[in-house]
Amino acid sequence: MDDLRELYQETILDHNRKPRNFGPLENANREADGHNPLCGDQLTVYARVNDEGIVEDLHFEGSGCAISKASASLMTEFEKGKSLEAVRADFERFHDLVTSPPDSPAETEGLGKLAVFSGVREYPMRVKCATLAWHALRAALEDDGKTVKTE
Ligand code: ZN
Repeated sequence: MDDLRELYQETILDHNRKPRNFGPLENANREADGHNPLCGDQLTVYARVNDEGIVEDLHFEGSGCAISKASASLMTEFEKGKSLEAVRADFERFHDLVTSPPDSPAETEGLGKLAVFSGVREYPMRVKCATLAWHALRAALEDDGKTVKTE
C-alpha cells in the first residue's frame, strides 16, 4: 500500500464518520439534489452565494456510501469562500482527475486534500459516487437548482 492510497482510506473513513458542513444551511439561496442510482447515494447540496458571486457557505445532507459522503464533505470544505469561477475550475479539475486512466500520472495540482480521490480511478464503479456532490453543486450554482442524476 503506498502513501496516497493509505491517505485515501484514512480520509474517506474520517469524513464518512464525521462529515463536515453536514445538515441544512440557513439562508441558503441555491440548492440541488444529486442521485446516483447505481449505488443508492442521495444528497442535497445547499449554498449561499452573495452578490459578488462568492460561495459564502456550503452544506450538504443525505445518505450514501462512504465515498459519496466523504467527497461531499471535502468538497464543502474546499469550496467555501471561493468564487463561482473558481468552483467551476475546481469541478473540471476534480472531474478530470477521477476520470483519468488509473495508470496515468494523477494531475492533482490545485486540488489540495481532494488529491486523495485519485484512488477512485482504480474503482470505475466508484467514480460516480465521488463526483455526485460535485454535479449537485454545479447544478445548484448554475441552473438554480434541480435534481441531477449521474446516469
Ligand atoms: Zn456510492
